[in-house]
Amino acid sequence: MKVTEHIHRANGKPLFSVEILPPLKGQDVNATFKTLDPLIELNPAFIDVTYHRQEYIYKQKENGLLKRYQVRKRPGTVAICAAIQSHYKIDAIPHLICGGFTKEDTEDALIDLNFLGIDNVLALRGDPIKTEKNFIPEAGGNAYASELIEQVTSLNNGKYLDDELQESQKMDFCIGVAGYPEKHFESPNLGMDMHYLKEKVDLGADYIVTQMFFDNQKYFEFVRKCREIDINIPIIPGIKPLSTLSQLKSIPQNFYIDLPESLAMEVLKAKDKESIKEIGIEWCINQCQELIEFGVPGLHFYTMSNSINTQRVANAIF
Ligand code: FAD
Repeated sequence: MKVTEHIHRANGKPLFSVEILPPLKGQDVNATFKTLDPLIELNPAFIDVTYHRQEYIYKQKENGLLKRYQVRKRPGTVAICAAIQSHYKIDAIPHLICGGFTKEDTEDALIDLNFLGIDNVLALRGDPIKTEKNFIPEAGGNAYASELIEQVTSLNNGKYLDDELQESQKMDFCIGVAGYPEKHFESPNLGMDMHYLKEKVDLGADYIVTQMFFDNQKYFEFVRKCREIDINIPIIPGIKPLSTLSQLKSIPQNFYIDLPESLAMEVLKAKDKESIKEIGIEWCINQCQELIEFGVPGLHFYTMSNSINTQRVANAIF
């Protein structure tokens, strides 16, 4: 079922949903089920599965020259989605990115998803690969999420890349996109970023999932600004309980967001690892309660494949 239909049927009750990573190469599907099993009793409306493109690593050979290797640590997004849908009978949402895909590859991926009975996709550009400073689209691929949305929308209208195709079937994907309450890191300012977010909505996005944030005011302000520029689709907040001391550095570094001073100070003063986990869970529960009072359509948890803290928060909320 489409995310928009889940929201409609919930009739104002906030949905619980999660994002997981596909298992590391070398692990089997049971690694995913192990992450998800504790969360299933909380009745998630849908489960997002991230997409991880190939990276390049360089290894020195005996002659001193460097050899480039292509690695993909977490393949299998589409297959994991199919396994989740078949095992739990819960909607799985694959993340689909522009990076590394030609438009033909994207069309083929969407054909696979359509055959598998997947109703939703989260359409993203993807980050630059670690060895490149800027995002470089694949030759003949989509350069921005907006172009990817255009392609999905075309297929939803039965328009494939080969315009000589006769009597082609329409697809019917519900399209999610990313939104950044603290702005996307490449954008010169929030207004400009929201201008492009509006473009994604005008091209066919059905709902927005936000980057994680730890200060609800950032989300409230973001929603207000979205409504001001006529972005009227559901905006689902992305949530993550902070759980380690090292995340004081890694979260701002990797996700380009601020951590509130009072949260960071509390974590710094904590006496041990267990206390930090508790501080993160308590902060997250308070955040979720306030978001629910605000009237969010759902709470989307970034589990990072560690479900225990999410389970604790969701148990207190739902
Ligand atoms: P876009 O919407 O294309 O925006 C990228 C940048 O370009 C922004 O600064 C925007 O303001 C600007 N821009 C947009 N359109 C234009 C235009 N036409 N002209 C000029 N500038 C423009 N990454 C993964 O690799 N795999 C995942 O599974 C994944 N899941 C994610 C899930 C969520 C909920 C979120 C929030 C992010 C996720 N990401 C994932 C990270 C995401 O791919 C990166 O943040 C990426 O850098 C931007 O993706 P986007 O879809 O927001 O890009």
